[in-house]
Amino acid sequence: MAGPGRVFVCYVPGCDLRRLGPAQTPYIARLLRDFPWAKARTYPSPEQLSTLITGQRPHGHGMWQAQLRPARPRSALERLIDLLPDWLTTTGQCALHQLTRRFDVPTVAPRRRRWMEFHRLKFYGRADTGRLGRALGARPSLVSALGPAFRYRFTDAWEDREAVLRQGVGDGARLDLLQFHALDVAGHWALEAAEDFRTYYGGVDALVRDLHAQCERAGVTMVLLSDHGQEQVRESVDLRPWLRQLDLPPEECLYYLQPITLRFWCRTERVRRAVAGLLKALPHGTALTYQDLRRYQIAFEDPAHGAFYFIADPGWLFFPHDFHHPLVNVLFGLRHPQQRRRLRDPRHLAYHGYLPHHASEQGFMAVLDRTRQVRTPEIDLADVAPSLLRLLGEAVPTFMHGEARFA
Ligand SMILES: [Zn+2]
Repeated sequence: MAGPGRVFVCYVPGCDLRRLGPAQTPYIARLLRDFPWAKARTYPSPEQLSTLITGQRPHGHGMWQAQLRPARPRSALERLIDLLPDWLTTTGQCALHQLTRRFDVPTVAPRRRRWMEFHRLKFYGRADTGRLGRALGARPSLVSALGPAFRYRFTDAWEDREAVLRQGVGDGARLDLLQFHALDVAGHWALEAAEDFRTYYGGVDALVRDLHAQCERAGVTMVLLSDHGQEQVRESVDLRPWLRQLDLPPEECLYYLQPITLRFWCRTERVRRAVAGLLKALPHGTALTYQDLRRYQIAFEDPAHGAFYFIADPGWLFFPHDFHHPLVNVLFGLRHPQQRRRLRDPRHLAYHGYLPHHASEQGFMAVLDRTRQVRTPEIDLADVAPSLLRLLGEAVPTFMHGEARFA
């Protein structure tokens, strides 16, 4: 076994194992033939960074989108705001968010949004270790475990590949983690024809090749990581007619509709029965209670993060959803070249976060060091952080749920 050293992680969300062949990604295909690697089991969520960075499963770090706020009477101002149409209040929130960055999920109307406390670990544009640390707050993670020995970089801009290479690997950090998120964004909005896949996967293959060369020159162990692929969206379904059937005030029955996940909180037994009945009737997905999430190693002890869930079948999308706002859609389409397609059609081309047994949800972790061995053919995403610490020769902290899987 190699001694304690330095590790560089090239983390490429959305890099789909099914597309990593010798024709499209010859360099990565060779790495997967020559070095130890394992498939990575994911969670039914589009956001996995919180698990990767904390080594905890979702019930440990709690970053599971949203949590129900305690019941209270609405203020006079809130009653007044609720008289306004949702298109107006959400447009106001989105405009305020552009100016102040104060609102998370400003696309949800205040009548529902006020009852949710958001816990998300999601960046747009560029981010660094400081921003990651602030987003994690007091939660223990690789950031707290390693302190200044840890460096994090995030970019979702495809044109940042040259800049990433200029920054080099390591830069004094023992663990240097680059989240190259541009392939995931392209998968959602730009990868349609075979030529698009060739261009983007070819670009990632070249980036991985150049980063690996930098690691070899610097004596740094490289880890290649993807936490999921993406499933092409074939059809969308509008759940609003079903939701309208419930006709209950958000104080009693609250829902949150992500592109492929619908969740409910219910404050009374009458509402619980109504929601359970509705979920049985909904098409193109699987209904789950929060207790059912234990099948996927998510063990919330109460329904604070959602009592009932409905997760779309692969290839299906719920549209409209709570992240959609027509003006925001146009703004993103104009601002980001990889998202131009939004101007024609605001529905994602592909998505992820379906139930974990589907092929689109398969991630992987490869350690580009022939002296290492992988202990299991499949790891859990919570095993990534402990495995990285072990590669550095560090002990695995007790707060982490996962285990070191590379020796
Ligand atoms: Zn994504």
